[in-house]
Amino acid sequence: MTDNLNGDSILTGNGHRNTRKRRAVIKALSESGKPVTAEEIYLSLINSGDSVCISTVYRTLDFLFSENIIKKMRFNDNESACYEINRNEHSHKLVCRGCRKTISLDVCPLSEFEDKLKKETLFNITGHNLEIFGYCPDCNSESSLI
Ligand SMILES: [Zn+2]
Ligand SMILES: [Zn+2]
Repeated sequence: MTDNLNGDSILTGNGHRNTRKRRAVIKALSESGKPVTAEEIYLSLINSGDSVCISTVYRTLDFLFSENIIKKMRFNDNESACYEINRNEHSHKLVCRGCRKTISLDVCPLSEFEDKLKKETLFNITGHNLEIFGYCPDCNSESSLI
């Protein structure tokens, strides 16, 4: 029972417990309000009294990523990957690579482009998400040397 030759058996084998872990991870992600690393999710779960180990967090994140429930991004090559809920909604955001602060933009700069694409490709376009990366004013002074 304990041989883990097939990693999938971990996810499907004990469905109930894993569903609870997934919910906890999703909750931690949605409450953070910004992209977070696996370590940060782990710490927030521990702080809210959840007993998890970091490998469970990694495994859960891998699963959620493969199911397209969360997004994975890397702000800098030397940093760990950050995760965020994949909200399939129409959104445009400015994301700071330094402090990972995100600012939602109300304007849609792509509606005309979408129409054009629709005509050119005959795609039935259902939406888009736009993320623009950079450094916020607070981080800009620190990062301008890099
Ligand atoms: Zn910043
Ligand atoms: Zn838009």
